[in-house]
Amino acid sequence: MKIALVGIGKIALDQHIPAISDSSAWDLAATVSRHGSVDGVEAFTDLDQMLEKRPDIRVVSLCLPPVPRFAYAMQALEAGRHVMLEKPPGATLAECHALTARAQADGLSLYATWHSRQADMVGSAKAWLADKRLTRLHITWKEDVRRWHPGQEWVWEPGGMGVFDPGINALSIVTEILPHPIHVSDALLKVPENRQTPIAAELRFFHPQGAQVSADFDWRQEGDQTWTIEAETDAGTLTLSDGGATLQIDGKTSGTAAPLGGEYPRLYAQMSELVEGGGIDMDLSPMTLVADACTLGRREIVAPFQF
Ligand code: NAP
Repeated sequence: MKIALVGIGKIALDQHIPAISDSSAWDLAATVSRHGSVDGVEAFTDLDQMLEKRPDIRVVSLCLPPVPRFAYAMQALEAGRHVMLEKPPGATLAECHALTARAQADGLSLYATWHSRQADMVGSAKAWLADKRLTRLHITWKEDVRRWHPGQEWVWEPGGMGVFDPGINALSIVTEILPHPIHVSDALLKVPENRQTPIAAELRFFHPQGAQVSADFDWRQEGDQTWTIEAETDAGTLTLSDGGATLQIDGKTSGTAAPLGGEYPRLYAQMSELVEGGGIDMDLSPMTLVADACTLGRREIVAPFQF
């Protein structure tokens, strides 16, 4: 299938282009980006022009930051194209509902991708937890914003989500592996005095069986990066680390320890299935948790942040 990639920036270059190039199912037929392009691929700076001039391209993958994404996604759907969305699928939940309604009405595929759910050991963790009684779960997601978002001012703007940009990856895993739904019961958001979005957050969640569920997100961690979920159950302890690439159950380790390895090829394989079957996959549960954390959260002003 021919596909157009929109927003040739960090994640398009790091993950989408290699995943599409390595797949026999996909042909990168055009890019839409105001500054970026890919050698040998027709480049547009305007989405409307691409949609008009390339009716043969039926699928559009959006790698933009969340705030501009809705307008691009709606434009592509209105032009009858199937759409794949980077995470988070929009800047607000209402935008995502509007996109879903439009795709449903027109029989188009729409995919809210959650790349961390495709990490190597997430499926095994889910299978192991399925018949256990959870007593405690803690997420530690601490990374260096300067390394992963070098110079990206949008993460600090309204709608940029701040530390929830990586934190939502952890929440996408937890909402996938836990057999019971959770919701946010308490949140503390640490916002730099010169920024609009949090640099760190501490969350607590309600769990229907009374397990203690909590999360600690921080964008100020230099050196080793920590993307770990620890779950204690009535039948042992599970630790998912390296963003879901490594699994340890009661001391026994399995996995690749390669964060992001294989995640994007699996997302494109999933998109291929959705388009072929005419499906929509718009699970918004990770985004609901972030929206609720922002609604409930107490704000604490912390030291200013500069790149
Ligand atoms: P980015 O490099 O800052 O932005 C991607 C591209 O989007 C830019 O190169 C720019 O291309 C275009 N763009 C930016 N602002 C725009 C605007 N206001 N209107 C239209 N186009 C705009 O961001 P990124 O790191 O790739 O992140 C993009 C998405 O991927 C985010 O939702 C992020 O959460 C997700 N993601 C990022 C990472 C990561 O490691 N950075 C990992 C996984 C997922 P032009 O200027 O050429 O138009």
